[in-house]
Amino acid sequence: MYGELRGSLGPSAADEGSEIHKRFDVFTEAWVGIAPARNTRPLDSPAESADPEECPFCPGGIEVPFSYDAAVFDNRFPSFRPDPPPPPRLDGRTGPAQGRCEVVLYTDRHDASFGELSPIELARVVAIWIDRGRELWADPAHAYVCVFENRGAEVGATTSVLWMRANSSNTVVGLLPKPARAIQPSRVLRNT
Ligand SMILES: [Zn+2]
Repeated sequence: MYGELRGSLGPSAADEGSEIHKRFDVFTEAWVGIAPARNTRPLDSPAESADPEECPFCPGGIEVPFSYDAAVFDNRFPSFRPDPPPPPRLDGRTGPAQGRCEVVLYTDRHDASFGELSPIELARVVAIWIDRGRELWADPAHAYVCVFENRGAEVGATTSVLWMRANSSNTVVGLLPKPARAIQPSRVLRNT
């Protein structure tokens, strides 16, 4: 938790999504994360029509049962996890989806926007970006860290809450191999 702790968390539901793995796309020559359990997320309706009363991120929701300033927790529907199951045997190349997927909630106000955050709230969010990026990046098992925000039904977000994700993986996936290669010398330099 960041800010004041105002309650206790329930039991973890981290065992969901046990079928995750990654596949090598021979057309793009990129690894792709496969996470079937993401299709069973609590909200599958477009963000704009999602009822705030059923929002999993609002205080009292299934993710954080109490009010908060900002919160970070493991994504219950991850594409990567620290202890992934063995990948399925398929015709093409597959691999374990090893990594971390975290959810970062900027505020517990359901309809807040980034521009409406107070200076203290903004400073807290930036501190969280740095904190999570630094910790995930420090793990030698991670080849990249991607801190990103996707908002709106157009990109598949299931809630309009102000939030982002911090994902990391032992393989650089999707379209990221080139930028990851470009910053690798800097990482080596900083670690020596
Ligand atoms: Zn909400």
